[in-house]
Amino acid sequence: MIFLKKFEAKGFKSFADMTKLNFDSAMIGIVGPNGSGKSNVIDAIKWVLGEKSIKSLRGKKSDDIIFHGSNSKPKSEFAEVTLTFDNTSRVLHIDLDEVAVTRRLYRGDGNNDYFINGEQVRLKDLLDVFVDTGLSKGSLGIISQGTINWFADSKPEDRRTIFEEAAGIGLYIRRKEETLRQLERTQTNLDRLTDITKELQRDIKKLEVQASKVKEYKEKKEELTKLEISIIVKDVVAANKELDYVSKMLNESRNSNITLEPKLNALIEELIIYKDKLEQSDIKVSKFSFELNEIINKINKLEIEKSIIDNDLKLDINSSDYSSKVDALYEIIVNLDKEINSKKIILDRNKNEFEIFNNQLVELDINRNDFTNSIYDLTTKNVTNKTNLTHLEDTLRNKPNHDGGSKAILNNKDALTGILGSVMDFIKCDPEHAQAITIALGKNVQNIVVNTIRDARRCIDFLVNNKAGVTTFMPVYEMKPKLIKPEHLEIMQHIDGFVGVASNLILKLEKKIQPVIDSILGRIVIATTLEAASEISKYTFSLYKIITLDGQIINPQGSITGGYTKLANDGFIGLETRIKEVKKVIESEEAQINKLRIKLKENDLASMELRNKIAERKANIFKFDDQIKNLETEMIKYKLEYEKLSKKAYEPLEGNKSEFTLINEKLNLLLNTKEKVENDLYANQNNKKLLKKKIYEIEETIDLTRKAIDKNKDIILEFDKKELKNINIIDNAKNKLNDTYKMTIETAIESYSEPLTISDNVARQKIEKLNKEIGYMGNMNMDAINELKEKSERYDKMKAEELEIAEAKDDLLNSISELDKKAHEDFSNTINKINEELPKTFKYLFGGGDCRIEYTDPNNILTSGIEVKACPPGKHINSLFALSGGEKTLVALSVLFSILKISSFPLVILDEGESALDPSNVERFANIIHAFSNETQFLVITHRPLTMEKCDKLYGATMLTKGVTTMIHVTLSDAIKNYANDKPDAE
Ligand code: ATP
Repeated sequence: MIFLKKFEAKGFKSFADMTKLNFDSAMIGIVGPNGSGKSNVIDAIKWVLGEKSIKSLRGKKSDDIIFHGSNSKPKSEFAEVTLTFDNTSRVLHIDLDEVAVTRRLYRGDGNNDYFINGEQVRLKDLLDVFVDTGLSKGSLGIISQGTINWFADSKPEDRRTIFEEAAGIGLYIRRKEETLRQLERTQTNLDRLTDITKELQRDIKKLEVQASKVKEYKEKKEELTKLEISIIVKDVVAANKELDYVSKMLNESRNSNITLEPKLNALIEELIIYKDKLEQSDIKVSKFSFELNEIINKINKLEIEKSIIDNDLKLDINSSDYSSKVDALYEIIVNLDKEINSKKIILDRNKNEFEIFNNQLVELDINRNDFTNSIYDLTTKNVTNKTNLTHLEDTLRNKPNHDGGSKAILNNKDALTGILGSVMDFIKCDPEHAQAITIALGKNVQNIVVNTIRDARRCIDFLVNNKAGVTTFMPVYEMKPKLIKPEHLEIMQHIDGFVGVASNLILKLEKKIQPVIDSILGRIVIATTLEAASEISKYTFSLYKIITLDGQIINPQGSITGGYTKLANDGFIGLETRIKEVKKVIESEEAQINKLRIKLKENDLASMELRNKIAERKANIFKFDDQIKNLETEMIKYKLEYEKLSKKAYEPLEGNKSEFTLINEKLNLLLNTKEKVENDLYANQNNKKLLKKKIYEIEETIDLTRKAIDKNKDIILEFDKKELKNINIIDNAKNKLNDTYKMTIETAIESYSEPLTISDNVARQKIEKLNKEIGYMGNMNMDAINELKEKSERYDKMKAEELEIAEAKDDLLNSISELDKKAHEDFSNTINKINEELPKTFKYLFGGGDCRIEYTDPNNILTSGIEVKACPPGKHINSLFALSGGEKTLVALSVLFSILKISSFPLVILDEGESALDPSNVERFANIIHAFSNETQFLVITHRPLTMEKCDKLYGATMLTKGVTTMIHVTLSDAIKNYANDKPDAE
């Protein structure tokens, strides 16, 4: 049988060059002188088949098997040997017809590479392929003198391996060993898992207690949260509703007082004026009454005098004395004439005054119209300005140029920390710069200024938690100012139209805020016009943004953004100044309106007086007109009588006046004066009446107004308290929501507005109870539920794994017992069979005697050692120690050949295995192996011609080059001639 087909070695021991041997025969002999390298072939084969012990390869260290150089050849860097096997009968445990096994070792690194058919494999894979082939370590497949000694001298337990190999249970044993190792690993795993599951069980028990506490806590907390926030929401909604009503009432009352208070002041002023007027009228009435009395007294005196004369004259008229009668008539006519003239003067004066007063009244009416119109115009303007003011104030408060995020932060400023305001809150500038600064600020106007990064982070968390939008935060202590280079500033300052650096145009800026403003406006320049801006940009290399007062922009790098923009309310930043201005205008308008109102009152008073006077004059005109007419009728009567009597026309008197005339003249004068005084007196008396009435009316109105104001004040006081109370409720709610639930009021209202199923009172009691209960629960492991879940999952997994491993362990135990069973069967069969063959083979080789093998521990066949009981013919020896070298060889060969009989090894290597035998035994030896060569390939290193003769092919090992083995094919005769120990004739 040919099993090993090819041997290739390079760099292995003395095989410096590539040495190829084609083993195409069943029995190959290797011959050669001592030290020529024959055994190196066996070493090479052993090495390839996985020999780990360098000592058994006759070296000390791994480099010793690499060609170490000779006089003519340098040392090799690696050793490589390949054996090619014919595996068509599947002797090897691999499903290939031809198997080439290679081992390679590099000098110095000690690492071996193994290949099967060129593919790198592990040593273990290689050993698995050769198991039970008789070529493994400790089998009798490779026999040298050393093997024979080992066989004879080794302990029965070690010797057992030979028989295991023969029984073909090596594979089982390897599998069992593997399975046992696996079992050990499995057991270790199982123990580890059991420990872990026990530990986990303990943890789970603890965690279950903790988790149930946490669950209870969470349920309570959840209920508390729902109740507390719902109640807060209810309180806030109610407070807001009440606030609406309160602020409506406050607005109404305040607005009402805003109107009533000036009205009251105006009324008081009016009252003072009227009282003043009344006083003046009073004085005038007294004065005119006194004057009138005086005049009346005088008139009365004169009237008495006049009536005496008048009586006399009447007597005279009725007398019979013609001249007295004529004179008396004349006297009467003269005086009537005088009286008529005097009355006419009075009448004319009244008419004149009537005219004048009417004209004056027209003027006053015109004035009244003017005043009323002016008051109307100013009031209209005032109302517009007041509306504008409210709008501006609302704008300042509501910040419509701020997005949701900024507003949310500012609205919850008190609930957060470190918020200084939005950038807009710090921007104050001259109105003329407002447009440019607004553009310069852009969206930054709504950035939130905070103290520290931590404050900013808290705000961001707040916005995220409440889904309340996005904004930019500027921590004052972190902001890096962006400034214009001093040399560029120097240049700019010399260019006409440079207004300033935007950051320097901000007024009354706190030092702390400066870095924020510098970071936004520090590199922006304001210029008067686009020309100036271009000039500045040109000389500063287009490095800066330049904005003109009307809002055109030259960007860095030179692009221009321009056009018309109307910024509402100066872009909000000049708002405070605007508000102040509008307030001033409103105040001045109100002062003017008041002045005009007073003038109107005075005008009306004057009109009233005039109308009195006009009425008076009108009555006087009628009165005097009548009187004159009556007097004239009387005078005509007397004139007719006089002319009839005197027969001459009446001529007014020239020259000396009579006493009667003088009295009448005086009387007329006095009556004239009296009429004037009376006019004044009546006018003033009337005035007084009207003034009194007016004063009464004003006092009434003042009283009512005062009462209304006081009532409003009471309402304001009461509702101020209510407002404060409700604001406090909302503030507390905000703080509570933020501190405890990190929630805004808006989010709370959105999520917790569903009505509760219990009354508010019950809810509040429950909140108190829950708070107490939660307080009593003390510290707890909040992560317990997660930990429990995690540990339970882990426990389940580990438990499943534990069961799986326990099952695997059972499987392993089963397969071990099956392996044991099979091995037990195969092994005892083999031993039995060997014992059938061994005595025969022994007898053949020894020419008699007996030999058998025995278990040292028959009860434990699978571990028992194997003892060889050999008894050469005529000897009573039981121990192998007592045998000679040749006898030991024969015993070993007997066992080998018995084994070969029952289980054929594919290859047997004999390294001078027969050297200790005498020629007759050599012949028997040679015959046997030759007989076996049908089933087994033999590789024989020999010096014995009898053995050489039986070989099919002979290779001679020579050292043509010193230190380097060369293998050559030799003929039997050459071999015998050159390499045999014994001479053929001697055999
Ligand atoms: P004998 O018939 O005496 O048993 P042999 O023919 O079996 O001899 P080997 O033992 O195979 O001879 O070879 C021994 C030779 O191999 C020696 O010459 C030894 O110097 C040489 N040798 C051993 N190892 C190396 C090595 N690493 N490099 C070169 N030569 C080596």
